[in-house]
Amino acid sequence: MSKPRLLFCASEVYPFAKSGGLADVAHSLPRALCSTYAVEVVLPLYQCIDREAFGIKPLGEEYAVQMGGISYPVMLYGCTYEGVAYRFIYSPLLCDRTFLYGPPDSGYEDNALRYGLFSYAVVTLLKKEAYSIVHLNDWQSALVALLIKEETIIKTKSVFTIHNLAYQGVFAHQALLELGLDGRYFSMESMEFYGQINFMKAGIAYADRITTVSPTYAKEILTPEFGCGLEGFLHFHRHKLSGIVNGIDTKHFSPSQDKTLVFPYVDLRGKAVNKRAYLKQTALKEAKKPLFIFVGRFASQKGLDLLIEILPDLVKRECTIAFLGEGESKYHQALEALAKTYDTVHVTCGYDEALSHQMYAAADFFLMPSLFEPCGLAQMIAMRYGVLPIVHHVGGLADTVQDYTSFTAQSAKGYGVVFSQPKAETFLAALDDALALYTNKRRYNKVAKHNMRCDFSWQESAKSYLEIYETLRAQSSHA
Ligand code: ADP
Repeated sequence: MSKPRLLFCASEVYPFAKSGGLADVAHSLPRALCSTYAVEVVLPLYQCIDREAFGIKPLGEEYAVQMGGISYPVMLYGCTYEGVAYRFIYSPLLCDRTFLYGPPDSGYEDNALRYGLFSYAVVTLLKKEAYSIVHLNDWQSALVALLIKEETIIKTKSVFTIHNLAYQGVFAHQALLELGLDGRYFSMESMEFYGQINFMKAGIAYADRITTVSPTYAKEILTPEFGCGLEGFLHFHRHKLSGIVNGIDTKHFSPSQDKTLVFPYVDLRGKAVNKRAYLKQTALKEAKKPLFIFVGRFASQKGLDLLIEILPDLVKRECTIAFLGEGESKYHQALEALAKTYDTVHVTCGYDEALSHQMYAAADFFLMPSLFEPCGLAQMIAMRYGVLPIVHHVGGLADTVQDYTSFTAQSAKGYGVVFSQPKAETFLAALDDALALYTNKRRYNKVAKHNMRCDFSWQESAKSYLEIYETLRAQSSHA
């Protein structure tokens, strides 16, 4: 019997286009679902994607997509990469830009139209071919859930995953008309949000199931503290909501097979070679001192204010600290100034996949004092590379990192240093605990080795997604 078909939609997918964890998930989750579903992954064919390198070819002729009374030219492209089928939507409005979402510190003004067009183009695929499930991710594809309710010929069931509730796709009311949506959708039950329209609400209201990327975050988003103004709306739809923790691609993030490393490794002795190489490359010295790293978006969510606040205190301790990231310019400036002041601090601004791997391989501790964290992949990648993450007990960090003081070798989970409040004193106390642990080499090594052996793969979580798909397919066959 042929496998049921699944269309997985995301606005970024590694290795084609990546700004954060969504791209990693859109790369690795479909691979974990392939044995049960015939999966196609669809994304915009951004300017930055190297068509030749990936063998991306047109699939058919240019066609027109109607949106708000305007006809937009669209071309469908495709390729198979590492056994996975990819579909790319090309339209000048959506794709011909330097950045995915906008230059640093802002989004493109016409993002409502860009991702509206992406969603309409996805709907044309769903009309042409019989997919059992369409899996939508974040606000950029949320509108698909609404649009397919308008199309009686589409029998596809939808799953909408919230990767980060802080980014909702909120635009001026007028965009509704340009999106070809009538006034019915400008209501509290639909896309209206304080006089504007909200794409995320469309996903929540119209998808058949909603998931978010960890069980703790699924609970947190029902509260005013983490609900970003949508806690009441989510509460109303909570019967459709569940939390499934993300996994990582354990082949891509594998210290023993990682081609970006000077010395792929299976043990801490091998890891030490990578630390020395990284320190040499950055002119940081003192391989004996613990190396703290941060890899991630320079955004307030990631606890950047806290990091910048404590850094002058942390540099007084015996350690070296390295940052890799890009994001808000105020953080770039502050971190670069600190790196100029202290020779034990190194900052690399920009996006560099290979360097990130080299840093995970070099580090002793990973700094992740996020104010909120839907799941977080970086802490899992860090643990896989034998690093101890230092995390705020929140969201997916609470679900994936246990405090080293409760260490047992039998646990399936990884360990780090966990602190309860995103405040300077508590964070510094956690850093001091980490430094004290580092002086007890036997104890530190035990935890680091345990982390390298943990299973951070998609195996368990993919089963939870498959269960959701199966329930939806059973519903549609009874309908
Ligand atoms: P986010 O909130 O950005 O999705 P996650 O921890 O879930 O955070 O995922 C971030 C992913 O992006 C990880 O794979 C991390 O290594 C990677 N990453 C983030 N910033 C950079 C960067 N500047 N260079 C290379 N990789 C990065």
